[in-house]
Amino acid sequence: MTISANGFDGHEAEGAATLAGPAAEFESGSRDVETDPDPVPRKREKVRRSTSHLKAVPETLVHREKLKTAAENYARPLDKSQPFSKDELESHGRKLLAELGEPEKFLGFMMVMIGNFFWKQQFLTIPYHRRMLLLPHCLKHAEGCPADYDEFGLDCEKCGACSIADYKVRAEQLGYKVLVAEGSPIVLKIIVSGHIDGILGVACLNVLEKAIDKVLIAGVPSYAVPLHSGDCKSTTLDESWVWDVLEKYEEPQATPTTSYVPLMRSANELFDVHFDRLLPRVRSKGVPGDLESALSATEAIAYDWLRHGGKRFRPFITLAAYDAAKGGSAAAAGSGSAAPAFPDTVSRVAMAIEAFHKASLVHDDIEDDDLYRYGRETLHRRYGLGTAINVGDHLIGLGYRLVTSIRGEAGAEAAADIADRMAAAHVKLCDGQGAEMHWHESPGQMLKPIDALQIYALKTSPAFEAALYAGLRLAGPIAPYEDMVPVFARHLGVGFQILNDLKDWQGDDNNKLVAGQDALSMRPTLLLALAFEAATPAQRVELNAIVADRESEALRTGRLRRIFEQCGVFEKAQTLVEKSRARAEALADEVQPDSLRQLMYFLVDMVLAPETEEPAIASAGSPLVSLPVVAAT
Ligand code: SF4
Repeated sequence: MTISANGFDGHEAEGAATLAGPAAEFESGSRDVETDPDPVPRKREKVRRSTSHLKAVPETLVHREKLKTAAENYARPLDKSQPFSKDELESHGRKLLAELGEPEKFLGFMMVMIGNFFWKQQFLTIPYHRRMLLLPHCLKHAEGCPADYDEFGLDCEKCGACSIADYKVRAEQLGYKVLVAEGSPIVLKIIVSGHIDGILGVACLNVLEKAIDKVLIAGVPSYAVPLHSGDCKSTTLDESWVWDVLEKYEEPQATPTTSYVPLMRSANELFDVHFDRLLPRVRSKGVPGDLESALSATEAIAYDWLRHGGKRFRPFITLAAYDAAKGGSAAAAGSGSAAPAFPDTVSRVAMAIEAFHKASLVHDDIEDDDLYRYGRETLHRRYGLGTAINVGDHLIGLGYRLVTSIRGEAGAEAAADIADRMAAAHVKLCDGQGAEMHWHESPGQMLKPIDALQIYALKTSPAFEAALYAGLRLAGPIAPYEDMVPVFARHLGVGFQILNDLKDWQGDDNNKLVAGQDALSMRPTLLLALAFEAATPAQRVELNAIVADRESEALRTGRLRRIFEQCGVFEKAQTLVEKSRARAEALADEVQPDSLRQLMYFLVDMVLAPETEEPAIASAGSPLVSLPVVAAT
């Protein structure tokens, strides 16, 4: 792809052409991936569509030990330079079960065992004070446990009535951080914040399945001891398996497995540690009371908004892309290494990416009148509409200022190229958001799958593209990646949005007020578009009535779900996610150097990680991937 003089490079035209592929498949309502005229090359081993019935634990200790020993022998010769992808782990699990003549129902258990022995040696080299012990609260004495819950889970009072106290006391003596919480979303956050480097987790296979892949594929050394059942009550475990690891430490010997955790920490440190130096204030010094100054108020709110909240995933992409294009030394240093330092040029551009993202969120919250963001009141709710709009604009200005500030060190051409890509991303985002609002305000307008896909490509992909492009552009010649980056980002963004659609329906099936909110609020989702396309005339009339109806949301959700299921909408959407994933991976297959290719696989796994909770749509034979692995995000 070349950048034209006016800065618009044909992304839209190219996007439309590519999107015509999957959308066209739905014109007939019946074509599937088998008829895809654009087959993708496959270098990465793929295993798809595992189901949720694969989580049996062998009943006897002898049987469990047999599988554990087999996994240890199997994992010993494995290449440990790169972390597992979830598909690779599943593939290993299936292969070993087949070799042992064991049934498929032990797949989850076997995956955990292989994952354990992939990571065990590296886990044991982590000093105790850098480890976390994660325990399930269902181990507690159900009746009469005096402990309360706080934001970190169960605050065990060590009364001694259950084994939690035994583990907790000993682990804390050694220096572990201990959490009694299941599937805690704060685990990865704690790791990324730099306080721990590895996890010893006890949990049922259901819990191990949830979002754990993000911890595993990020390269966090982990070891899991599965509970014998997922009944959440009076559960048991093989206690010796915990003690085997809990009290053991070994000196580092082997080369560590690649990990993106240090780079995630670097992205966090941009805002938590280096913020004031990289982006000094102009109108205020950040002292208490500066909000009271009329001249400094906007800057103070904008800096506060930019600095706090969010996963900083986009800045991470920029840093990781820079590192990967330079050979990947930071990622190769392993999860226990310190957050690597980056040139200020790279850091400032990564911060710019976040500034644009945060600006878009301020405006998006206004347009949707959202109440909360990052656990705080949204800016327009807190400060009023005018102030929020102004702060969003201020953040956009900050973003461009950060980019142009690098022109001295990085060169004017690099700064201009990055600014151009960010400007293009900004325009596309607004076009996508505008298209969504236009459709929302035009009742009765037919929504086609191609329209929804194009909106997705405009709304989500440009931020991925700009973040990836910026890191690569600063690392060296961009020519080898010029065409690949926007296409890769588009597949990532489109797949991500479709997954979001599916997750919108994966709330508690009994809580109809939770599921289907996007569709009911007249957002132009792909699911709705697929339903309109495949619906019979009678179903189409009903769809229009549901969308326009004012009866209770629970009733409308139930009716909408029925039509979606009748039209095969969930399966079609999942197929499109898989196609986005396959196409993104196919692009990665061809990329050099290897460090960049591995990063791209990682981004695909992170962005297109399926929801691992039992989805409400699973009853229809959901192909959503189940992944039992090691800890929790
Ligand atoms: S040891 Fe802790 S978790 Fe177990 S029953 Fe006592 S207070 Fe509750």
